[in-house]
Amino acid sequence: MSKKAIIIGAGIGGLSSALRLLHNGYEVEIYEKENSIGGRVNITETEDFTFDLTASILMMPDVYKELFSYVNKNYEDYLEFIEIDPIYRVFSDGNHFIDFNTSMSKLTKNLEAISKDDYLGYFKFISDVYEKYLIANKYFLEKSQDTPKDFFNLTTLSKAFKIHTLLPLMISSQIILKMKIFENTLPFNLCM
Ligand SMILES: Cc1cc2nc3c(=O)[nH]c(=O)nc-3n(C[C@H](O)[C@H](O)[C@H](O)COP(=O)(O)OP(=O)(O)OC[C@H]3O[C@@H](n4cnc5c(N)ncnc54)[C@H](O)[C@@H]3O)c2cc1C
Repeated sequence: MSKKAIIIGAGIGGLSSALRLLHNGYEVEIYEKENSIGGRVNITETEDFTFDLTASILMMPDVYKELFSYVNKNYEDYLEFIEIDPIYRVFSDGNHFIDFNTSMSKLTKNLEAISKDDYLGYFKFISDVYEKYLIANKYFLEKSQDTPKDFFNLTTLSKAFKIHTLLPLMISSQIILKMKIFENTLPFNLCM
């Protein structure tokens, strides 16, 4: 008789766990309290606009690709990742705005138009934050935190102190700072 797993919640976490469990021979039941699946990854629509309820930017497509390959499926048969250009537009003081794109050459032009110093500062920031992302990935994102000891130990705590970035030291333009603050309100904040 196959083992049975019951999952509460059909958000991305519940659905992903269900796929992995099914692949490992479990019988799976998912219970969802809302009328639709997806959890926080959802939208709300008015006549003129569509709003993301949470996730706006897919930062780590590889996580989704890995899930599909884990269950021997090709993600392209199920999902289409669409590159958006610009990813988003940040407004400041009514008429001023800056577009953010995945294309580094376009982004360079946009930032240079605001300030050459900040253009340099922005790329220093990207390099700094990428180094921190690698630390966060290794010690936090891809590591199970099953017991308090998994987090509250000397190695993890010392790494936690290393992932703080002092953005205002690298950038002075208010519009670029505002954009980064907007991004930092997103738990995941890079693009494909
Ligand atoms: C403001 C905001 C912005 C974000 N932006 C991004 C982004 O840009 N990019 C990105 O990748 N991620 C983003 N995230 C994170 C992403 O939305 C979450 O990490 C992800 O949706 C969490 O999925 P989950 O399955 O763990 O939880 P949830 O999506 O919360 O799913 C939980 C599910 O369980 C159901 N449930 C709860 N209790 C019960 C119960 N008792 N019985 C039955 N069902 C129950 C809920 O209805 C829900 O469907 C953002 C999150 C927030 C809050």
